[in-house]
Amino acid sequence: MEKRYVLSIDQSTQGTKAVIFAADGRLVAKTARPHRQIIHDNGFVEHDGEEIMANVLAVIREVVELAGVDPAEVACLGISNQRETCIAWDRATHLPLYNAIVWQCSRAKDICADMVERDPAVADRVRELSGMNLSPYFSAGKMAWLVQNVPAVHDAAKAGTLALGTMDSWVLYALSEEHAFATEPSNASRTQLLDIATCTWSAELCDAFGVPLDALAEVRPSDSIFGHTTAGGLFEEPIPISGMLGDSQAALMGQGCLEPGQVKATYGTGSSIMMQAGSDLVRSKNGLVTSLGWEFCGQRSYVLEGNINYTGAVVSWMKDDARLIFDPTDAEACARRANPADRTYFVPAFTGLGAPYWDDGATAILTGVTRTTGHDEIVKAGLESIAYQIGDVVDAMRADTGLEVHELRVDGGPTANGYLMQFQADVTDVDVSVSSVAELSAAGAAFVAGHAAGVYDANAIFEQIERTTYAGQMNPHHRELLLAGWRAAVRQAMCH
Ligand code: ADP
Repeated sequence: MEKRYVLSIDQSTQGTKAVIFAADGRLVAKTARPHRQIIHDNGFVEHDGEEIMANVLAVIREVVELAGVDPAEVACLGISNQRETCIAWDRATHLPLYNAIVWQCSRAKDICADMVERDPAVADRVRELSGMNLSPYFSAGKMAWLVQNVPAVHDAAKAGTLALGTMDSWVLYALSEEHAFATEPSNASRTQLLDIATCTWSAELCDAFGVPLDALAEVRPSDSIFGHTTAGGLFEEPIPISGMLGDSQAALMGQGCLEPGQVKATYGTGSSIMMQAGSDLVRSKNGLVTSLGWEFCGQRSYVLEGNINYTGAVVSWMKDDARLIFDPTDAEACARRANPADRTYFVPAFTGLGAPYWDDGATAILTGVTRTTGHDEIVKAGLESIAYQIGDVVDAMRADTGLEVHELRVDGGPTANGYLMQFQADVTDVDVSVSSVAELSAAGAAFVAGHAAGVYDANAIFEQIERTTYAGQMNPHHRELLLAGWRAAVRQAMCH
């Protein structure tokens, strides 16, 4: 039977999706299962690794059935996953030794603070080697916490059977017939233990965090044949697991951003903006972080990334807290009704400001309000704050790489807002392209896996993606005026 479908798993924070793509890249069927968010009284956030694996197997079975595909027609499997979340398991029993620690969990705060207290130079070394600021957000501190606080983890380390992995490695290990223990550069670089210049685990970083290097997975290219799976007996002949990527890099791949200077922005509650930086390591001087994009077709690539806490969440705040709108979709009509000459700015620094400003002490402000500023003008300022923040990250990417950015490939709920998309194009001087593909992370992982398995040809897949494009059309003088006002507002928010 012809092997013409690619199965993709998107193991994300809220749940696990399975998606089937056809040989022409078309999405055939998708299904999802949520898992428990285990939140302790002290704020620690965990997931149950075995529950997630049960869901992985269930969604695979469901999606194959839903698609009406014969399992024998499925060529291969790709995995995209929540990044930084990590889990410890025992390679003797194949079982988790503790729940997975979720990326949002800041339990490693004291571990990172102690490292700096012991050796003030450590923060600079961590940044130099890993490309990212020392932070409990990444896996390294969480892995150190597991080794220090969970006796079973400590014992397994002593016995030489400990596995410490990100979610890609756990899913691969538990799913593959051969219990493959591997990861790939996009996930490995978000642990904060990888030397991003050489793409190998750094003994110095492992030492600094107290994480045993021999408990870490083998780092292989993102398009390796990592292992084979029957998915619990569904596939008579085991199929290859032939692609893995962390979710943001998978979305970058799903958007077809393979050329240096191509940028994707995901508009959700918050936003992740990522630039394909090419094969040379670029270090940010403008508040961004460097990670590995992937190793694909024998080529290693680097990415620059900026994360913003409040983008779509500004719209949720205007609805739920400020009660300015009843529904997120109302925001567009308000902005279109508003006086276009109004110069109110809203800086949504609810919890300080992230990339590229990095000011924990900044507070949200509304500024430039006049006697004629009303409800609609304030909603307009809220919407525009999303575009200004994303534009600032794109500008930091331009400054760091010297690359021109002509297009921003976007996805997520707020991209349905035509006012916002046009304003983004105008104020950032780019074409904003909204992809017709809904599941970009799953699509990216499917593409890598399908390419490795010989189902996909690179260009054919990306060419069939339909996009709606908003062209930048603001006069440069007007843009500079607006941006000067925004920058002044950000400065005000930062010195509050
Ligand atoms: P997530 O994956 O983070 O849950 P979504 O991509 O579903 O996010 O986007 C949800 C966010 O987008 C919410 O914060 C919501 O307020 C905002 N949002 C949804 N639709 C619109 C719209 N038409 N205009 C502006 N914001 C919107």
